[in-house]
Amino acid sequence: MKIVIAGAGIGGLTAALSLHSVGLRDIQVLEAVPEIRPLGAGVNLLPNAVRELDALGLAEGLEELGADVTGLGYFNHLGQRIWREPRGRASGSRWPQLAVHRGALQTALAHSVRDRLGSTAITTDARVTGFVPLPGGGVEVGLGHRVGDRPSSRLRADVLIGADGLRSAVRQTLYPQEGAPRSHGAAVWRGVTRSAPFHGGRSMVVMGNGRWKAVVYPLAAHPGSDGLVPVNWAVSRTTPEDPEATDAGSGDGFPTAVSGWRCGDLRLDTLTAEADAVAPFPMLDRDPLPRWSFGAVTLLGDAAHAMAPMGSNATTQAVLDARSLAHSLATHDDPVIALAAYDRERRPRMNRLQLLNRANGPEVVIDLVHKRAPEGFGRIADVIPATRLAQVAQSYARAAGFDAASVNEPSPYGQPRLPHPAA
Ligand SMILES: Cc1cc2nc3c(=O)[nH]c(=O)nc-3n(C[C@H](O)[C@H](O)[C@H](O)COP(=O)(O)OP(=O)(O)OC[C@H]3O[C@@H](n4cnc5c(N)ncnc54)[C@H](O)[C@@H]3O)c2cc1C
Repeated sequence: MKIVIAGAGIGGLTAALSLHSVGLRDIQVLEAVPEIRPLGAGVNLLPNAVRELDALGLAEGLEELGADVTGLGYFNHLGQRIWREPRGRASGSRWPQLAVHRGALQTALAHSVRDRLGSTAITTDARVTGFVPLPGGGVEVGLGHRVGDRPSSRLRADVLIGADGLRSAVRQTLYPQEGAPRSHGAAVWRGVTRSAPFHGGRSMVVMGNGRWKAVVYPLAAHPGSDGLVPVNWAVSRTTPEDPEATDAGSGDGFPTAVSGWRCGDLRLDTLTAEADAVAPFPMLDRDPLPRWSFGAVTLLGDAAHAMAPMGSNATTQAVLDARSLAHSLATHDDPVIALAAYDRERRPRMNRLQLLNRANGPEVVIDLVHKRAPEGFGRIADVIPATRLAQVAQSYARAAGFDAASVNEPSPYGQPRLPHPAA
């Protein structure tokens, strides 16, 4: 069975490794860019994703790439604490929560793919432009190339997995009327700054005032010889008065609006001022879909369920999709039935999570507190009961599958393997 994966992001690469781990061998990853470069800033692998990467024999190496996050705190813009919860192993989970640089994670996964599947398993400069279902089953995949004068080309596959991100060409072929990703009228500035460790060195901080929000976490567990660690930060601004705006490039209000924001030993203005490169992005997502799998074609990761960046989930869910899909292909003889089973297992849950994130996910507590106490508070219990805060956190963890009880269950995507390694 020939499987083509569009996109060598975290989702596509984990899919390749997962398919290989169940015994599938004819796998080709097609990546649009001519060269995989370590782009982006920080991403989080929640413990449910680390469990699955551990099952692929990758977790140990990844732990060395980033920081294991042991706590998450929500604060108002004055640095007053709203809520704190243990994370990763500190929450009772058998696996850690890892904060890593996206580029480092992608590079490590690409290395593992080439190591296990062969040096030609990833083809770069191969943009999937669409596909046509073939009458006898399978698909013909269209490819465009950027380098040199290579003409567009075609490739036949038994299965096509669209792991080609927010602006997926596979998704566009399945849903030609859908159009551009949905804007939330929010802009996000992201950066990585070498800085002194804060809050004990393993904490994630989310602080905000209902209009501006900052998410900050370390990308290394131990300081370098300079005493500093790379710290990932993202500052976002909502523009509720103009929900269609995508004015991320204007820079309007940033960084002035967050200057003076402090939270214990964390100083946001120092972080934003000293970042290597600060890039603004519009905050985009996609609507939940009624179906991901159509015959021999399916979607995975952001291509299937791009969600607003709340709860640090996107990378985790792409990993889970990959493992689910491989397990499904290993347990059904007919790939069309396998893809439909994967859709049934993953899509309803992701549909719910997309909507939860659109409503600000667990970070909604910051907005609630700001509405009730815009000038700050004496005791958080006078603003919002602890039981309500706990309920928001726990119900989100369950929805995203990273609550310790769920994580400590055996992986639902463990054995079986296909009987013939050369399948
Ligand atoms: C350059 C980049 C930087 C990012 N930085 C961050 C960040 O700092 N923080 C964060 O939280 N999230 C970031 N993300 C998003 C994050 O990686 C994803 O939300 C998450 O990891 C799920 O990954 P994915 O594999 O589904 O999609 P993606 O990570 O978007 O990967 C999709 C891959 O498909 C390739 N591709 C796109 N179109 C085609 C096509 N037609 N044919 C073939 N290949 C195609 C892309 O080049 C990319 O390699 C970034 C994504 C990208 C692409």
